[in-house]
Amino acid sequence: MTQGREVEQQRQQVLEQAGRCVRCAYCLPHCPTYRLLQSEADSPRGRIALARRLAATGSGENSLSAPLERCLGCGACEAACPSGVGYRALLHGARALLAAEQPPLRRGWRQLRLLALSAAPYHPLLVALLRRSWPLLRHLLRRLQPPLAALAPPRLTPLPSLPAPDAAATGARVALFTGCLARLVDGAALTAAVRLLTALGCQVAMPAQQRCCGAMHAHSGERSSTLQAANREAFAGFDALLYLASGCGSELQSQKLGLPVVEISDYLSRHPKLAQLPLRPLAQRIRLHTPCSQKAPFGDPQAPWRLLAQIPQLELLALEESDHCCGGAGLYLLEQPHLAARLVAAPRAAIQRDPPAAVVTSNLGCALHLRAALAPLGVPVLHPVELLAQQLIGPEDGFSPLSPPSTYGAINERSA
Ligand code: SF4
Ligand code: SF4
Repeated sequence: MTQGREVEQQRQQVLEQAGRCVRCAYCLPHCPTYRLLQSEADSPRGRIALARRLAATGSGENSLSAPLERCLGCGACEAACPSGVGYRALLHGARALLAAEQPPLRRGWRQLRLLALSAAPYHPLLVALLRRSWPLLRHLLRRLQPPLAALAPPRLTPLPSLPAPDAAATGARVALFTGCLARLVDGAALTAAVRLLTALGCQVAMPAQQRCCGAMHAHSGERSSTLQAANREAFAGFDALLYLASGCGSELQSQKLGLPVVEISDYLSRHPKLAQLPLRPLAQRIRLHTPCSQKAPFGDPQAPWRLLAQIPQLELLALEESDHCCGGAGLYLLEQPHLAARLVAAPRAAIQRDPPAAVVTSNLGCALHLRAALAPLGVPVLHPVELLAQQLIGPEDGFSPLSPPSTYGAINERSA
């Protein structure tokens, strides 16, 4: 498709969605940036009006672009809208129009940054170099960009090693989506997912040809069809594609990859053998954060609850202050660090008042943001699969996963 036709398509998309808005204001109290900034331009209704003007006039002046760039893309307005405005489609369209309007140098710099963030983690040589120079890079970040340094983990994590393929295995053949940033910093959650899936008899693969989901590109108005095509090829022939970061999942689900795309907690919590997993009890209080990308229409917010309900004695409570976006929305952390810091203040204050043993969340962006905010309080932030895998009794404990239920009861009594 030519660039001119693409721009015209985006323009029509914006006008179509904006035409549905009746300016009723139901969405306003649901918008985290409106609640924070109390300005009509930073409300969904205001942004819709700005996007409509942008599509009608083609002018990307700063008064139009700044409020659209401050939008989190959290979708809370879309969920609340009684008129069915497809706000996220409108936002992606408006950002694509803004990107097309940008001066070539500015747009080129943004595209270069997206390329570096999304492609470098798949390049073995660059990753080896990054691992080696990570302590120095962190030191430099701490000096030059303290808010960014707070997000950088002390060390980069390795990808999990997979069990040798079993020719006699009959379990589902599932592919694991590693994510671009996650494959560098979230190896612990990926390892936990492999451990749980293997214990349930699944054949797990992490195809080396897989690429970034493209969510960062879409949020910046630079949707990439190349990444989608690469992933379609990489995951062909598997029974399902499983993802850990709900932010990646909402983008993957909007693509046509040719196989079911399922969030890991949802997949595990519906697995017929899940109840047979031998798990140690955990008599602790844990707060569960629900990322915006795990809410409808992309995710099932109940999935982590179902999954963690398997752990005996666990006291699982909602982090109610996560009703609104925490600010960990992809590049938002880098592009709007001050607003992101203000948005995380409510969940941090709640945790400080009544600290749990840990917080669990299913989106890497939220996890990095919450980890940085909660580090001074000493509260760890985990993926739900990490918590479940920590409780799994495996061969190293002298018991086999999927041992008969009678043994399971005995194990739990003994370790309680
Ligand atoms: S709730 Fe929907 S129709 Fe009402 S102002 Fe917001 S976007 Fe427009
Ligand atoms: S997507 Fe979120 S931040 Fe953006 S206008 Fe809607 S509710 Fe507000």
